Amino acid sequence: MDYEGIVYRPPSEARSLIIQVTIGCAHNTCGFCNMYKEKKFRIRSLAEILADLTEVSHNPYAPYIEKVFLADGDALVMKTEDLLVILDAIHRLYPGVKRVASYGTAQDILRKSEEELIRLREAGLGIVYVGAESGDNEILKYINKGVTAEQTIEAGQKLKRCGIATSVTLISGLGGRSKVEEHALSCAKLITAMNPEYASFLTLRLYEGTPMYADVVEGRFQRITPDEIVDEIEIFLKNVDSPGTVFRTNHASNYVILAGTLNGDIPAMLKKLEEAKRTHHYRKFRETGDLL
Ligand code: SF4
Repeated sequence: MDYEGIVYRPPSEARSLIIQVTIGCAHNTCGFCNMYKEKKFRIRSLAEILADLTEVSHNPYAPYIEKVFLADGDALVMKTEDLLVILDAIHRLYPGVKRVASYGTAQDILRKSEEELIRLREAGLGIVYVGAESGDNEILKYINKGVTAEQTIEAGQKLKRCGIATSVTLISGLGGRSKVEEHALSCAKLITAMNPEYASFLTLRLYEGTPMYADVVEGRFQRITPDEIVDEIEIFLKNVDSPGTVFRTNHASNYVILAGTLNGDIPAMLKKLEEAKRTHHYRKFRETGDLL
C-alpha cells in the first residue's frame, strides 16, 4: 500500500493502521495550516480503499492491529453509507480492531444526522478528533476556520449524544498579543460546554506560505512569548469546568508538558506552570520545529 503525500495523525494514533480515505482536507483554508497545501482534495474511491485494506490484511502483523485511523484531514466528509462499507470491511478483515478514529470538522459533523452518527458508532467509529483551535469567534474568523464557536460546541454535543468520544485540539497563542485573555477564556468556555473526553493545547507554529506567516513577517500579527503562553493556559485552567476530560499539553510544540484529568488535577497542573514560569524551564523553542 502506498500513501499519497505526507500523512498526518494525532499523537495517540501512533500505533494505528492508517488508511487514507480522503486525500487532503476539503476545507484547506485555515490561516496557520500547511498540512495539506500540496494536495488537491479528493475522496478516494471505495475500490481503492478496500484494495488497501485487503492488501494490508495479508501482513502477518494484521491480526494484532487494534486501532485504525482514517486519514487525511476530514474523513467524515465522506458519505455515511461509504464510511459504513469501510467500517464493515475493517471489522471483517481485522477482527482484532477495537477502535476506529478520524479527524472531523464541525461542518462535517453537523451535516450528518444523529441517526447517521449512531450508525457509525455502532459500526466501530469510536473517536473523532476535532480541531476547534479557539472559542473566540473573532479569532476563528481571522484564521478562516469556517465555523463559529457555537457550531463547534453543537458538533461536540452532538457526538456526545451519539456516544462517539471527542478529542478537541486548541492552539496556544492563536489570538496573538492582543487577545491572550479572550482566547484563553473562550477556550475554557468551549471545553466547558463540550465536556469532551480529551482536550489538548498545541502551540502555534507557523510555516512559510501560510497567510499567518505573512502576517507575522509583515507585522500584522504579534506572536506571544513562552511566558504569555503559560499565562494563557493558566487562565484556561482557572476557568474551565469539564469534569472527567483528560487534558494534555504533550505535543512537540508545547513549552511545558502537562497531563491530568479535569477538574481534579487542575491545582497540580497550575503548580507545574507556576514552577516553569519561575524557573523559565521551557522546552527549547527550536525543538518545536517552528520555522519562524
Ligand atoms: S480543517 Fe484542519 S486540516 Fe483543514 S485546513 Fe483547517 S486545520 Fe488544516
